[in-house]
Amino acid sequence: MLDIRDKEKKFIEELLEKLTLEEKIGMVHGAGLFRTEPVPRLDIPAIHFSDGPMGVRFEFVDNEWEPLDHNDDFVTYLPCNSALASTWNVELARKTGQVLGEETRGRGKDMILAPGINIKRNPLCGRNFEYMSEDPRLIEEMVVPMVEGIQENDVSACVKHFAANSQEKQRLWVDTLVDERTLQEIYYPGFKAAIEKADLYGIMGAYNRLNGEHCCTSESLLNKVLRQEWNYDGLVVSDWGGVHDTLLAAKSALDVEMDVTYDFSKHYMADSLIEKIKTGEISEELLDEKVRNILKFMLRLKMIGDDKDNRKCGCYNTREHANAALEVARESIVLLKNDEKILPINPENKKIAVIGANATMLHADGGGSAEIKALYEISPLMGIKMLLGGNQKISYEPGYYAPKISNKDISWQADSTKDNLDETDNQAETQKQKEQSKEYLDKAIALAKESDVVIFVGGLDHAYDVEGKDRTDMKLPYGQDEVIEELLKIKPDMTIVMYAGSPVEMPWLNEAKALVWSYYNGMEGGNAIAEVLFGKENPSAKLAETFIKAETDCPARTGVNFGKPDKVQYTEGVMVGYRHYDTEKTEVNFCFGHGLSYTDYEYSALELNMVSEDDNMVEVSFDIKNVGDVSGKEIVQVYVAPKFSSNISRPCHELKGFAKILLNPGQKKSVAVNLSKKDFAYYDVLEKDFVVIPGEYEIQIGASSRDIRLSETINIK
Ligand code: BGC
Repeated sequence: MLDIRDKEKKFIEELLEKLTLEEKIGMVHGAGLFRTEPVPRLDIPAIHFSDGPMGVRFEFVDNEWEPLDHNDDFVTYLPCNSALASTWNVELARKTGQVLGEETRGRGKDMILAPGINIKRNPLCGRNFEYMSEDPRLIEEMVVPMVEGIQENDVSACVKHFAANSQEKQRLWVDTLVDERTLQEIYYPGFKAAIEKADLYGIMGAYNRLNGEHCCTSESLLNKVLRQEWNYDGLVVSDWGGVHDTLLAAKSALDVEMDVTYDFSKHYMADSLIEKIKTGEISEELLDEKVRNILKFMLRLKMIGDDKDNRKCGCYNTREHANAALEVARESIVLLKNDEKILPINPENKKIAVIGANATMLHADGGGSAEIKALYEISPLMGIKMLLGGNQKISYEPGYYAPKISNKDISWQADSTKDNLDETDNQAETQKQKEQSKEYLDKAIALAKESDVVIFVGGLDHAYDVEGKDRTDMKLPYGQDEVIEELLKIKPDMTIVMYAGSPVEMPWLNEAKALVWSYYNGMEGGNAIAEVLFGKENPSAKLAETFIKAETDCPARTGVNFGKPDKVQYTEGVMVGYRHYDTEKTEVNFCFGHGLSYTDYEYSALELNMVSEDDNMVEVSFDIKNVGDVSGKEIVQVYVAPKFSSNISRPCHELKGFAKILLNPGQKKSVAVNLSKKDFAYYDVLEKDFVVIPGEYEIQIGASSRDIRLSETINIK
């Protein structure tokens, strides 16, 4: 009897045998903007791809960047990955994956080009909103259930962009120079976890070069690290236009080349590969290996083989999906500041003013390849009105002029690999903004004066949080700082709500009493924000990245070791995010892991228990109690801090575990988090492995990276 694997192998080899060279070539490159070529005579379908991270993208004409403009491709708009990561809720990561997977299959696709998990190395990266965090452990914990959730629907996730793709400037050509230890400790773990723990079926090579080689065709990254060291046996897809050479592509572990151009036969793994195989310059065996991977991928998704009729059919736009979007949105909103307990707002008998363009701006339609046609999107203003009802006096003023952005000019992607999209500056809009700002501000001030409660809703939009270009500074656009400062003079109790994909400078922070942060929060985002502001939902999110005061505080600084067009040396090494700020005690606006609640929590009774001396397995347990009068969910964080000095430069502490605990008023629960040997280790380049230095380590239990409530030292052998 053949076991399943042998049976699969036999099936694949038999098919491979029957395929002609031309048919095989059709399978390894884009034959439409989002598909490969099928082989109907052998019942081999095309692979259908779609973006992206916040929902399944709309349909394009097969061979043109022209939306089909049908009305059947509206979808559930999910909170972006930065929002999801701020929930620190692994079950919500799974749920998000399940929704995305079901909708991907529901829309008839095979692979969703998500999630994006690149490290947020610098706050200016244009695609930060698509990414989760500055911390690899948090990413690992979130990406695994998310991928599992997607893939349980007989579709593939495509974790992207592998690897070290943390800037948009010259993204196709920039060479990122990163040392081995930093890759192993910071830039690889999310990808590795998805492969080892979630049985990932798909990965996307990044546009950039890594240590000299283009990621999409890099032998060291794909053949050695991915295939040999991590035993990855899923599909490797290039980013669209990330391949630049036929021989390199053939020799590398890349399986499918995709591009933004529609001369499909001119792709590097198309006609030119046929030619080189025919002349004997490239062995056909290299092509066969790719086709084997593609057929294995198809078997896993039940696209071919005996199980074909059992493939799940998926669904999209269900009520459950909208509910899931709301659940994530609620738990992703971070209460950054709440002096004098200004929040939640009691609206009774009060005239409410909502001021700021982001109160009405819709965001689904922007951001680059992450754009989607949302079934609907509830703005903050609408969410507030829906919650409070018709008897409540709610007035609105934009306060500043922000041009409406729309990705209706879809052709950007056709050109996205030709030029750098940076440096686009819309002078006409800037002029309009200048002329109108006084008028907008005057009206807002007049409204604030006659209102009892003022809620300012500002931040960024997808003119700034967008694929293809990085922000040039961390300042709020459209003159918002002045508007906020003027309004605070009139209403010092004003609540400030910020929507953005990355931190912004906050020159008015000392004057502000209440500050709420939302990332792009999906179709139910407006409902979620209203619930938080008026106390229907107790905020329970925490920052998955440090909110620094200015970009100059970042160890990866523009023009120095970030945002350069040719080479970018990751000189900060492993000192990314709080690893740098906490070690250097940099003054920040809000530290990693920070987030307030409408209740308070008390931490006690920390115990460390060495479960296994050999493996340095430590069981960490402590109690957490809700000492306030509303129920809430607290995110408890476990950091490991080496207490000895050595010649290895190490962060003062690193997140190694966390949990999110639901507690009713007065309720106390005991929390257990296990630490493994690796949680004490650093990557030793000589040993080529994670190595533990014996000595004392402090285990810190924190409400944030800078609010350590309990700590205990343990001796590790
Ligand atoms: C982006 C990818 C995306 C692809 C397909 C590229 O421009 O970098 O993230 O999946 O386009 O739209």
